[in-house]
Amino acid sequence: MAQITIVGDGPGGLSAALFLARADHEVTVYGTDATVMHFAFLNNYLGIDAISGTEFQNNAKQQVTDSGATLLEQEVESVTVDQGVITVTSSANTHSPDFLILGEGKQMPIANSLGIQMVAGEDEIVPVDRYGRTSIPNIYVIGRSARPTRSQAIISAGDGAATALDILSTIEGREVQDWDSPPKE
Ligand SMILES: Cc1cc2nc3c(=O)[nH]c(=O)nc-3n(C[C@H](O)[C@H](O)[C@H](O)COP(=O)(O)OP(=O)(O)OC[C@H]3O[C@@H](n4cnc5c(N)ncnc54)[C@H](O)[C@@H]3O)c2cc1C
Repeated sequence: MAQITIVGDGPGGLSAALFLARADHEVTVYGTDATVMHFAFLNNYLGIDAISGTEFQNNAKQQVTDSGATLLEQEVESVTVDQGVITVTSSANTHSPDFLILGEGKQMPIANSLGIQMVAGEDEIVPVDRYGRTSIPNIYVIGRSARPTRSQAIISAGDGAATALDILSTIEGREVQDWDSPPKE
């Protein structure tokens, strides 16, 4: 079982948590519930008719905890990496996860402190690959943090899912997908 820490309790972090907890890994989400989802009313989330951002967040948090992840309402204060060891310090504890996912939202002080910087161009982006991998092994950046000027809830959730599958594939050494079928009659 891998220990995976997620910084950020918006749609990005929660989506990653859902996939990783379903695969029975030890998943901890740190969040301060300062997501801009509380200002949103979603009419553009595929498969959902219309929902307030706050209700979406409440549903998502319930789904994630039901799947076995731990949600801690704590701020992560710092992250360091020394000889490949990631150390996360929150307002209440210090630990060293195997993987770290940063879904901090528009501001990304933790990512910045690790030298992960925005690159200005046609669009402002963080240089990650399609799975959210950064240049630091086992550290990912997802969601609004990765593309602040093109932020949508469903994109953040998709980023979280893509990162989760990359972590699961890395752990298992094969391509992993989370597919379920309807129960047989
Ligand atoms: C007014 C408004 C209306 C919007 N309407 C829509 C809409 O209709 N449809 C749509 O798709 N999108 C909409 N959006 C955009 C949508 O809200 C974002 O795309 C989405 O919230 C991004 O999700 P995220 O997970 O990437 O980041 P966020 O939702 O920003 O989540 C980041 C989370 O990380 C937490 N965090 C950050 N740093 C730390 C730390 N160090 N320790 C612990 N926790 C931390 C924060 O508390 C926050 O909860 C709207 C946005 C705004 C502002």
